[in-house]
Amino acid sequence: MTTAVRIGIGHDTHRVGSGGKMLLGGVNIECDHHLIGHSDADVLLHAITDAILGASALGDIGQLFPDTAAANKNRCSQEMLRIAYEQVQAAGWKINNLDCVILATIPKISPHREAIINSIAQLLEINSTQVFVKGKTGEQVGPVGRGEAVVAQCVVLLQQQ
Ligand SMILES: [Zn+2]
Repeated sequence: MTTAVRIGIGHDTHRVGSGGKMLLGGVNIECDHHLIGHSDADVLLHAITDAILGASALGDIGQLFPDTAAANKNRCSQEMLRIAYEQVQAAGWKINNLDCVILATIPKISPHREAIINSIAQLLEINSTQVFVKGKTGEQVGPVGRGEAVVAQCVVLLQQQ
């Protein structure tokens, strides 16, 4: 029996450093903070990459792009997502929709929501109505609320091509 749809979930956390711009969903946001990581630390694209790989049972971002490999140092997360989605498509799937949450004290997400949605849609060559992104502040508690970390979550629904 073939399955017509598959659901996937992705979750990622990066530490916050002071200074610079913060890359979220392929958008460089001026907010005097940046995210620390082996790659370019785009926490949202990492969560999306894990969600689509998980939904198609093709592994996870750490298997595809191990952080022990020199080639992945400062690697462009947009390129990693594109490569992952090529593999997902080669396995016979396409994205129906993505729903994402960014948990961050800084920056405030709503002013950047449209730019982030458009960036993700363009990257994956899907319609912007197939993507949604919302922000949560962490309510001043925990690592997110204290501004020490930014967390991203993504749920994806894949459908057969
Ligand atoms: Zn990451």
